[in-house]
Amino acid sequence: MADNAGAVPQDCRALLEEALSLTDPQGETYVRRLSGYFAPTLKEDPAEAELPSHRLMIRAGLIRKLAGGIYSYLPLMVRSLRKLERIIREALNSRGAQEVLLPAVQPLELWQESGRDRKYGPELLRLKDRHGRDFAIGPTHEEVITDIIRRDVRSFRDLPLNLYQIQTKFRDEIRPRFGVMRGREFIMKDAYSFDAGSEAADVSYRAMYDAYMEIFDRCGFRFAAVEADSGAIGGSYSHEFMVLADSGENTLVSCPGCGYTANQEKAELAGYAFTAGAEEELTKVYTPEQRHVPELARFLKVPESSIIKSMLFAFEDRGPVLALIPGDREINLVKLGNSLGGNFPRLAEPSETLEVTGCPPGFVTPVGAKIPVVADSAVEKMLSGVVGTGEEGWHYTGAKPGRDFKVDWYLDIALAEAGDPCPRCGKPVELKKGIEVGHVFKLGTKYSEALNARISLADGSEALIIMGCYGIGLGRTVAASIEQSHDKDGIVWPMPLAPYEAAVLPLQTQNPEVMGKAAALVLALARARVETMLDDRDERPGLKFKDADLLGLPLRITVSEKSVAKGECELRERGTGKVTMLPLETAAETVREMRDKALENRP
Ligand code: ATP
Ligand code: MG
Repeated sequence: MADNAGAVPQDCRALLEEALSLTDPQGETYVRRLSGYFAPTLKEDPAEAELPSHRLMIRAGLIRKLAGGIYSYLPLMVRSLRKLERIIREALNSRGAQEVLLPAVQPLELWQESGRDRKYGPELLRLKDRHGRDFAIGPTHEEVITDIIRRDVRSFRDLPLNLYQIQTKFRDEIRPRFGVMRGREFIMKDAYSFDAGSEAADVSYRAMYDAYMEIFDRCGFRFAAVEADSGAIGGSYSHEFMVLADSGENTLVSCPGCGYTANQEKAELAGYAFTAGAEEELTKVYTPEQRHVPELARFLKVPESSIIKSMLFAFEDRGPVLALIPGDREINLVKLGNSLGGNFPRLAEPSETLEVTGCPPGFVTPVGAKIPVVADSAVEKMLSGVVGTGEEGWHYTGAKPGRDFKVDWYLDIALAEAGDPCPRCGKPVELKKGIEVGHVFKLGTKYSEALNARISLADGSEALIIMGCYGIGLGRTVAASIEQSHDKDGIVWPMPLAPYEAAVLPLQTQNPEVMGKAAALVLALARARVETMLDDRDERPGLKFKDADLLGLPLRITVSEKSVAKGECELRERGTGKVTMLPLETAAETVREMRDKALENRP
């Protein structure tokens, strides 16, 4: 380092060298110099990046793409990840969880044993070893951890256990996008709990739920814990932790009245406004070319809600059903699948619809249907509605469920919308967008049963272990933080995840006095354990400020000829833009206090 002091004049080398030698308990130095630091920044927005977080992570030199959904993490990103890891470890370790590190490469037999090789489908990356044996790269580790537990845990006395790891996963996502937000290779914290009995498992679940609240709170997020669908992992119940951001891929239903929050995929509906109509006779009317609800409603001069949409759904693992819903509503595919016990429901293609129902698209009818019919609960209360006739160009008006066509099940299958009554308190709900950063599941016995993980109980009998699993995407969490906190100039790091806490910008690097004061300040900051990036590059002030904004470190301290003449430096807070002049002698102390205060955000 001594030979590579860049623009630093001789007389402040000693100060700087001392500053650069001080290390934190992890062995990382408190101070780094931007000259020679590997944070390759870009002036232009990368073309492929759709989200601000993705754009900024590339522009600020945090990540680089190797292949679709596969990224390299550069030093600034690693710093941020390490901070997140520390927050996660503290929350988990303090609740008794123990860290392990499991293999990324897993024998495919384990996945066959749990039956998930099929269910995971092409997202599971498979490979063969030189002997032709089948392996998969772990997208998650329920099978591997359950295999360990079934071999080594025999008695209820060995439980509870909570094991976690922070490790690289691979999921061959169909559409990797948004950088590390939805990558194919990504870092996950996955934890697994093992309990004797359902009540004990609930306690473990609650502890992880609380840990997650603490973790995302400490990260400084605006977030919500929402009731979630359990998806491909399956299980008794689950919550997702959603960082609120307009660009989020998830839609949340949230009640300003009572706080009920659920993923829209799962959100229950306690009725909603619909048009019941008055009982009429079933009448066949000519409706040429009126295939879609809006035009049909206009043509017949009826509200869209008095049309009963009939749609054919196909499933991967059960026969097709005809689903009925008021014309102004959408079907919730997840609720449809869950309530019928079928996986991967999808709207049938027009050709399939014609083949299965004999009806041309737009004129599908429940009248005389030969396949099972499921209707949304609201349809049951409709006294008359418009349905297809099965005949091109004709509809029925006055159709009454139960009288004119049979319905096998009335179920809650509609997608909740803004303004619908909250299922808990009845107040109108709102819709929000969120990024799922964490997920907690109570799994029950799904894996212990499939892999036969049992324990003996106090009375000598045997029981299946009750499991839970708990994930956090680390890269996605850092990306979500940037998504929630940035402006037109760059990242606005929250203190807890910021790669460095302060940036020191000497503006005239050839001026020994300016550099001397900057070096002294940096040493004082290092002694105060403030993580500092010193922009020692011999560059124009404008460029330094631009880069400082792009990198977005929370506290920027400028040392210039002008400020030094007054014995001062200029502090600018990245979040608020607030500028304060500080005496050089006490600046480090002030910065330390501000840093400590910003990190205090602990529950
Ligand atoms: P999603 O619905 O977004 O696909 P998931 O339900 O498949 O997520 P889990 O299996 O619950 O995700 O994984 C736990 C956590 O891992 C998620 O909450 C998320 O933070 C992270 N994660 C999942 N898939 C990805 C991915 N492709 N890229 C980055 N992080 C991911
Ligand atoms: Mg997924």
